[in-house]
Amino acid sequence: MRALVIGAGPAGLTATLVLRRAGWYVRLVEESPALRTQGFSVPVHERGSAVLSALGLLPPVEGLVEMWRGDLVRLLAGEVGEIDFGVGAKDLADRFGDYDVVLGADGIDSPTRALAGFPEGRRATGFSLALYRDDPAAGPRVFPTGEDPGGTPWRVDEITQIELPHWSRGHVMLIGDAAAACGAATGFSTTVALVMAYQVANALVAGRTPRDVEARLRPWVTEQQAAARRRLPA
Ligand SMILES: Cc1cc2nc3c(=O)[nH]c(=O)nc-3n(C[C@H](O)[C@H](O)[C@H](O)COP(=O)(O)OP(=O)(O)OC[C@H]3O[C@@H](n4cnc5c(N)ncnc54)[C@H](O)[C@@H]3O)c2cc1C
Repeated sequence: MRALVIGAGPAGLTATLVLRRAGWYVRLVEESPALRTQGFSVPVHERGSAVLSALGLLPPVEGLVEMWRGDLVRLLAGEVGEIDFGVGAKDLADRFGDYDVVLGADGIDSPTRALAGFPEGRRATGFSLALYRDDPAAGPRVFPTGEDPGGTPWRVDEITQIELPHWSRGHVMLIGDAAAACGAATGFSTTVALVMAYQVANALVAGRTPRDVEARLRPWVTEQQAAARRRLPA
């Protein structure tokens, strides 16, 4: 079987690893010229670390594991094999039909989502995140959108979730933030991405359809998104 995986973040790397280990031909593309290892510490909840253990990348752990995003991406990429850097979803939009399955793992702003005809699916949480680069004492700040976060932020982003009526259209399926982002700074997105990617890839290997996988995963993912919203200030 042949798969195209778009995006070498935690979701795309996990799915590729599972599919390649099962003998699938997988083309993994990443639009950046190198692995994107930037980012802060990302919480990996128990179901996420269970995925890393099942892949043989971490010893079994109980409870929450805090990992630097860069370490997680390097850990997965170290096992995954070839990545086509500098190739984006748009470069391949007219080649989707060459593959049995296309997995869009290209993050919250996923170009694959629009290219494959999914709705945008953005849900505002009413909160934004301010990051401060030049003031080491100022950590990231979550504040109501439209209010003044204080100080001089380097970057301000609205905290949004992605909620789609379906994660698959034909043979194209979205995974990770592209399908169901929980929102920056809520601490759930990486776990959801790992679990989704692992389960989707294993189900495909077992010959199940994307729709079938989605039906099994959706209640848990919806619960994680609700829990993420509850983490935001009241
Ligand atoms: C640079 C970066 C830093 C981050 N820092 C943090 C952080 O500090 N804390 C936190 O909680 N979360 C952070 N995140 C988000 C976090 O990684 C995700 O919420 C979570 O791990 C889910 O992973 P994902 O693989 O679905 O998406 P992502 O981690 O966003 O990975 C998506 C990948 O797809 C690639 N991509 C995007 N568009 C295209 C395209 N058109 N074609 C091909 N490839 C494409 C991106 O370059 C990226 O490598 C960061 C994401 C990125 C990209």
